[in-house]
Order: sequence, then C-alpha cells, then structure tokens
Amino acid sequence: MHKVTLIPGDGIGPEVTDSCVKVMEAAGVKIKYEKVDAGAGVMEREGTPLPEQVLESIRKNKVALKGPITTPIASGFRSVNVALRKELDLYANLRPAKSFKGIRTRYENIDLVIVRENTEGLYAGIEKYTSEDKSSGETIRRITKKASERIARFAFEYAEREKRKKVTCVHKANIMKVTDGIFLEAARRIAESYQGIEFEDRIIDNMSMQLVVKPELYDVIVTTNMFGDILSDLCAGLVGGLGIAPGANIGEEIAVFEPVHGSAPKYAGMDKVNPTATILSGILMLKHLGEKKAADAITKALDEAFLEGKKLTYDLGGKARLSEFTDYVISKLP
Ligand code: NAD
Repeated sequence: MHKVTLIPGDGIGPEVTDSCVKVMEAAGVKIKYEKVDAGAGVMEREGTPLPEQVLESIRKNKVALKGPITTPIASGFRSVNVALRKELDLYANLRPAKSFKGIRTRYENIDLVIVRENTEGLYAGIEKYTSEDKSSGETIRRITKKASERIARFAFEYAEREKRKKVTCVHKANIMKVTDGIFLEAARRIAESYQGIEFEDRIIDNMSMQLVVKPELYDVIVTTNMFGDILSDLCAGLVGGLGIAPGANIGEEIAVFEPVHGSAPKYAGMDKVNPTATILSGILMLKHLGEKKAADAITKALDEAFLEGKKLTYDLGGKARLSEFTDYVISKLP
C-alpha cells in the first residue's frame, strides 16, 4: 500500500483530483491518501495558504498529488506553488506534451518534454520596489552553476531512462551573458557525459518560433524557470491545450504531481472541465511509485477513449461532463 499526500486545491482542483483518484483506484492501485488543504480557501480559515501540516505530510509521504491553487495577481499571498517547490527543493519540473490520436489539433505526433529549472531564475521571488512611491521595481534573476548542472543532469538522466534521443538547452545567453552563460555552460559540461544523446542549444525567441513551425524536431528541452513555464504552455497548445498537459515537480527525495493548468475558478464545481491533465499527472506518479502496469493500463484507456472520441469535454470540442469522461475512461480499463 502506497501512502500519498492529496492536496485537492482550489477552483476545479477538487474535481480533477477526484477523477484522477477514481481512475487510479479502478486500475487496481492500492494507495492510502492523506488529504490536506492548501490554497485560497485555507487562507481564509487559517491565515496562511500553506499550513505547516501540508509540508509535514509531504515530507513524510515523499509523494503528493496536487490540484491547482489560486494565486492572487500582483498583491496578496505569494504563490503556494512557488513556495512548495522552494521549501521542498523540488528542483525539476517535468512537463510532457504528447499528441493523442483522435484529438483534433494543428499538429500530429508531437512528443515533447520540457524540463524546467524550478528553484531559481526570475521566479525565485527576489523582488522589491526601488522607489518610495512604488513607481519602479526590480526582480533579481539569480542563476547558479550548481542548480544549472543539477537540472541538466536530470534532463539527460530522464532522456536516457525514457530512451529519448536529443536534449535541447534553451536560453538567452546572447543577451543575459552572465546568468544564461552559466546555465548554457553547465548544460554543455553535463552533455559531455552522455555521448549517446544528441545535444544542441537554441535561443528562446528562435525556439518559440521553431516549436510552432517544426515541433517534431524537438525531444527533451531543458531550460530556466520562466522560459520553461512559458514554453510548456506553448507545447500544451500544440497538443490540444491545458486540459491534457500534466506535470511533476521532482526533488532528490520528494515528488509532487500536478496538472500544468490553474484553478480555472469560473468552471469550479460545474463538472465541466477536462480531468485528463490530472490523470496524466497521476500516470507520472504511478511510474514514480513503480506501478508501471497500472500506468500503462490507464495510458491505453485514455488512448482508446480519445481515439473513439465519443465522450470529449468542452475544451476538446465535445459535450461530455467531467464525470462522464471519467467513467468512460474507467470503462476502458482491463
Ligand atoms: P487556468 O489554467 O486556471 O485557466 C485558463 C483557462 O484554461 C480556463 O479559463 C479554461 O478555459 C482553460 N482550462 C484550464 N484548465 C482546464 C481543464 N482542466 N479543462 C479544460 N479547460 C481548462 O489559468 P488562469 O485563469 O490564468 O489562472 C487561474 C488561477 O490559477 C490563478 O490564480 C493562477 O495563479 C492559478 N494557477 C495555479 C497553478 C498551479 O496551482 N499549479 C498553475 C497556473 C495557474
């Protein structure tokens, strides 16, 4: 029996995590969940969006399944997601983007993985106003050799394990010569130890264009925090949108699995959104837990459900409710 921390989250979070839990249960995986709350709802009750017991539970169980959490824009509490990643040193953010046959998109056969550095760069939250009237401010973009080498090694290890052929380092070292210079050099150094995997680098602006024009040329992409965040949404768009984009935040010992999308508050409680991103995050979690058979069975069930295309949620052009789609995927399990 595995023990996993479950954070349902805000907005659509409870619905999509519930769907994922049901599908994994139906695939026969034995998981005991420890449910803890974090986010905007908890903030009102407890005065903090990230109570200590949430961190304690994840530290103890080492694995968590998490729904999205609402973060107020520009004011209010700092992002719980950023705090979790920093507190637990979840340095690698893995965001695969894979096409499903049956989902109509502009592209076919996309199979990309973004490996995003999760702890430093522009999202480290080192920000301040630089004038009393708050009319100017600055953000520090700190990059270290240690974190850059660690994320590059993670990308190559992942590529090797998943039998992938190429790692592309994405940066802006032509302009940010110091910080992205450190990042690119680190990736080049690590690449030398992985001779079986092709290595190349691309400048972020060119990469954005390349991904829209020739996405099939890319395989594993390793990049800094903000570039990784933006590119992974771009890649989600290539394969059908946020409804099918999963993610994992991985550290040396702890891993937190969550969809790329946010809490979509306008759809909360409507049994409407697509739970696939969370189910796919659950598949990443099952692989992490060594439950390959169940992970493969759910992957196959999703493949079949999309190929038949009878029960698609609104974002994929269908009319099915979240619960109908969930039951349909479950009906495809062996
Ligand atoms: P969002 O991802 O919540 O929603 C953007 C749009 O994408 C939605 O209006 C909807 O059209 C679509 N969408 C998202 N998830 C979907 C799904 N499962 N199925 C179908 N369609 C889906 O982004 P936002 O509106 O920018 O952010 C809302 C809140 O979520 C903000 O407070 C933001 O900070 C937070 N957020 C949290 C996380 C996280 O917890 N990891 C990630 C991103 C955003």
